[in-house]
Amino acid sequence: MSASELTTVAVFCGVLGLLVGSFLNVVIWRVPRGESIVSPPSACPRCGARIRARDNVPVLSWLLLRGRCRDCGAPISARYPLVEAATGVLFAAVGWWAGLSAELPAFLYLAAIGVALTMIDLDTHRLPNAIVLPAYPVALVLLAVASWANDDWAALGRGAIGAAALYGFYFALMVLRPGGMGFGDVKLAGVLGLYLGWLGWSSLVVGAFAAFLVGGIVSIGLLLSGRATRKSGIPFGPYMLLGAGIGIVAGERLGSAYLSLLG
Ligand SMILES: [Zn+2]
Repeated sequence: MSASELTTVAVFCGVLGLLVGSFLNVVIWRVPRGESIVSPPSACPRCGARIRARDNVPVLSWLLLRGRCRDCGAPISARYPLVEAATGVLFAAVGWWAGLSAELPAFLYLAAIGVALTMIDLDTHRLPNAIVLPAYPVALVLLAVASWANDDWAALGRGAIGAAALYGFYFALMVLRPGGMGFGDVKLAGVLGLYLGWLGWSSLVVGAFAAFLVGGIVSIGLLLSGRATRKSGIPFGPYMLLGAGIGIVAGERLGSAYLSLLG
């Protein structure tokens, strides 16, 4: 695709991401509490007034309302517009990376659950089954459609192996070192292995390794700056997702660079 076509796809995905981000704010708040994500409609937690449609425009409404409820003036956390903006930027990046391709929907879906799971894991140290388990059939169908469109069924086979391999690897870590990984991490690992394996073996290896590299670097930084103790238990899900992102973007390039070094 030409640069201008890619820009169009990225802008379209970015706008879609802002809207999806607004929905993810609901998911991030309600799913850990076991509440429905469709009803009741969003309301101010203090005065109970329903959020009007014009006050529900991503990012913009929060800025226009200066972060306060229109009815009672209660402060609205800046994390809502930040989640919307971050999802918008991430979707635009996925659009730029994938272009108008058969795999675009699959990777936009991964970006959406990635944002939700990162925020929920940071909030609650959990990766809810309600999000992780449906990701298996949804990702499988989306990637199968992409394999069919690309006439590349080997990718789907690699994805299945990647899912089993990463699930098994995290399962072994959980069993061998209790208190480290949780079962939520194991289940997420299978989903990420499916995506990374679908892209290629290098993506799988780089994505899996990058999670531990980034996690280690951040942990050392937090320990050195005195902002965390050895026991403060930073959840691992966000590192897994960030590592997968690195594997997706740079995996094949790093893999071929490594192979050419070996000659
Ligand atoms: Zn209010």
